[in-house]
Amino acid sequence: MSLSRRARAAQEAIEPVTSFFLSLRALDGQPGVVDLTFGDPHEMPLPGLVDALRANVEPRTEDWFAYKTSLAPARETVAAGLAAELGLPFGPEDIAMTQGAFGAIAVAFRLVADAGDEVVIPEPGWFYAPMLRAADVVPVRAPLAAGSFDLDVEAVARAITPRTRVVVVNSPANPTGRVYGRDRLDELATVLEAASARTGRRIWLLSDEPYRRIRFDGIGFTSPAACYPWTLVDYSYGKILLAPGQRLGYLALSPRIPVAERAELRAALVPLQMGLGWGFPDAVMQYSVPALEKVSIDVPELARRRDLMVGALGAAGYDLTVPEGTFYLWSVAPGGDAVAFAGALAERGVYVLPGTVFDRPGHFRISLTATGDMLERALPALRELAG
Ligand code: PLP
Repeated sequence: MSLSRRARAAQEAIEPVTSFFLSLRALDGQPGVVDLTFGDPHEMPLPGLVDALRANVEPRTEDWFAYKTSLAPARETVAAGLAAELGLPFGPEDIAMTQGAFGAIAVAFRLVADAGDEVVIPEPGWFYAPMLRAADVVPVRAPLAAGSFDLDVEAVARAITPRTRVVVVNSPANPTGRVYGRDRLDELATVLEAASARTGRRIWLLSDEPYRRIRFDGIGFTSPAACYPWTLVDYSYGKILLAPGQRLGYLALSPRIPVAERAELRAALVPLQMGLGWGFPDAVMQYSVPALEKVSIDVPELARRRDLMVGALGAAGYDLTVPEGTFYLWSVAPGGDAVAFAGALAERGVYVLPGTVFDRPGHFRISLTATGDMLERALPALRELAG
């Protein structure tokens, strides 16, 4: 067997996702299929995105397409945006431009965690586990609060051991759509501070914020960076632009990290990104950052789609979590077996994501990035299987 232990562990950790997609492939080619699985676009790209790319693809200098690390104008734009949004004075030198949030998370785990260290991840939560396994780091799941899916600080406290190096917080959260309040985040900061003192080893917080700007009903946002100094913030433009194939994001070191420690981390960013296989965004994406900062999907329209689905599925008897942000809708699967439920829906031409992907086999997720027409077409099958 020549496959590395790391590769095998990453493969095993992603298995629920791959097996589900293999099962869908059998149904490919069916006419009129409604795909509500991933947060992918189903309409033509945003004109603002296309304009920005077009404006920056035309070379203006000989080195237009030369090797690029994190470009100064991109970092300056990001730092100014973060300062305005989070109320913290982020420095451009502390921003690493990355290939989406995926790239930023891969850097973050390697920046502070060693092989065999533990990282606490939310459950249900996005698939951090394969990324951790590929870095030889051990995922430890901490359940979110039963029913409400709020941050359960006591569950995080219970998951912490002397090997814990990072705790991941994702708000607004995928798949639940929950946005965590300041009180919970302050409680978490107190727990992390006490645990770090107890173990004599700093526990870092990774704040995974790719949906930060996708929130509904005027709900506010508090970044964990405002509550806990030892915080790394990651972001992706893939969500707000609904263009996850155009890889762009960043990892930001909180300005509240003590100066000497921050300098040490900062110096390691470029070497680590190189070591990960030149993990910087393409030149054109980086040139486009100032323009892209002003482009957004239609969030009020997303809220209307959320209201349509929450209203219709709620009336049909689904037990839903009403999302406060993101573009997902999370629900209990009728019958309690999400794979069977997703299979029955797929036979009716509607694809949803079973909660097995998020370690919750009794739930499923719908992506609201579908068109209004697709959502309407999905409703008869969803009503039929409401249980
Ligand atoms: N973090 C969360 C919570 C996500 O939902 C996603 C994408 O679905 C990512 C990170 C990765 O984002 P990207 O593909 O834009 O890098």
